[in-house]
Amino acid sequence: MNYDVVVIGAGLAGLTAALRLAEQGQRVLVVAKGVGGTHLAPAAIDVLGYIDGPVESPAQALPRFAAAHPEHPYRRLSVELIRSSLGWLRDRLAELGYQGRLEENFLLPTAVGVAKPTVLVPETMAAGDLRAGGRFVFVGLRGLKDFYPAYLADNLVRAALPGGASVSARTVELAPPLGDEGDVTSVGFARRFEQPEFRDMVVRELEQRLVPGEIVGFPAVLGLRHAREVWQELETRLRHPVFEVPTLPPSVGGIRLFESMTAALRREGARVVVGSTVSGAEHDGKRLGGVVAQTAGRPRTYRARSFVLASGGFASGGLQLDSYGRVRETAFDLALVGVPSPDAPRFEPGYFDEHPIARAGVAADDELRPLDAEGAPAFENLHVAGATLAGAAPWREASGNGLSLATGYAAASAILERTS
Ligand SMILES: Cc1cc2nc3c(=O)[nH]c(=O)nc-3n(C[C@H](O)[C@H](O)[C@H](O)COP(=O)(O)OP(=O)(O)OC[C@H]3O[C@@H](n4cnc5c(N)ncnc54)[C@H](O)[C@@H]3O)c2cc1C
Repeated sequence: MNYDVVVIGAGLAGLTAALRLAEQGQRVLVVAKGVGGTHLAPAAIDVLGYIDGPVESPAQALPRFAAAHPEHPYRRLSVELIRSSLGWLRDRLAELGYQGRLEENFLLPTAVGVAKPTVLVPETMAAGDLRAGGRFVFVGLRGLKDFYPAYLADNLVRAALPGGASVSARTVELAPPLGDEGDVTSVGFARRFEQPEFRDMVVRELEQRLVPGEIVGFPAVLGLRHAREVWQELETRLRHPVFEVPTLPPSVGGIRLFESMTAALRREGARVVVGSTVSGAEHDGKRLGGVVAQTAGRPRTYRARSFVLASGGFASGGLQLDSYGRVRETAFDLALVGVPSPDAPRFEPGYFDEHPIARAGVAADDELRPLDAEGAPAFENLHVAGATLAGAAPWREASGNGLSLATGYAAASAILERTS
């Protein structure tokens, strides 16, 4: 079968591009080696959390930030487009109840008790906003190995909050029986929370131990498929605001995001193939005709009119670094920028110093088409999105998911404009 668009990668960038194209009537195939950052990262969408310190309003900060970082992918996007991508996600995935807007960052506690700026959050996380301060209680679940509430609470009370907002934090540890199933991961607990008997036990153990006025933080394990119902039931029965705090990976919230997006894609008639690595292309000069994917049985060629490369960075195998310090882009061997010379020092002096390789990747033009070594589009019908792009430092900036969402959205817009 021939497709209108083949998208390489099933992280947030690839799924965004694919869904936006499929809902506009394009025949879309997503082909991916595996799942991406969704299964590790919280479902919160960070657009720009830090420049020198925390950013209060990404909408205000973005123009100055982009002007100061000419190589950054945000330089290719307007503030309006980034805003539209957030609105699109909020409307498209109504079942996750995303809240927030580009004008202001929430400040939400991370698993290790840092107050982190983020712009769009699922409704199950929103009551954790620390900006107004408050009395927080964090619930530990004995056996859950991805969440340490005492450590979180300890760090949180020391966090500097804007306007001197004050936060108190304590913990309550519950020991609900885990049954015969030995799964003590976040996913195992998320499944338990979908059982009414398990919720009954949690509410019974917890309700006597809450103090009026407290805001109750659970690890983000309040259900996989029915998180909204679980969260609403806990708020109603406990009569306290309830919110989820991201756990260490795996991320239940991210898995919900992945499931929602792939379900929406299937409803739109798109095909998602996970378990195939793209490692080559068929092309006629600068026009890409197909991509070659390694499947279990034999190589397969998927043909289309346009392509989106959203294969992530080093973490997901979109970029690879060998032991000689050589870096390559794994699907098309595209030209890369920002790669330090193999003779450059391998380590920076400070543990948290930024290494130049963090910004390495594929450079792109205004239509997000990858550039070759001469600075011209490598292929006229290939677009690139997400962590494959050069120039960003997502960990330092708190921009990872926002960048993937906005560039996935922009790549789809460029294709729609070209083919309309
Ligand atoms: C532990 C962790 C925590 C994070 N926390 C946050 C956070 O709090 N907030 C935030 O905004 N961001 C966070 N991030 C960053 C964010 O998750 C990433 O920036 C974002 O997911 C990148 O999305 P992507 O779609 O560009 O790439 P990825 O999600 O990495 O997806 C890449 C996809 O491409 C596939 N692929 C790779 N190579 C090939 C190939 N050759 N052929 C076929 N398929 C291929 C992969 O299998 C995968 O499906 C976190 C990341 C991690 C790992």
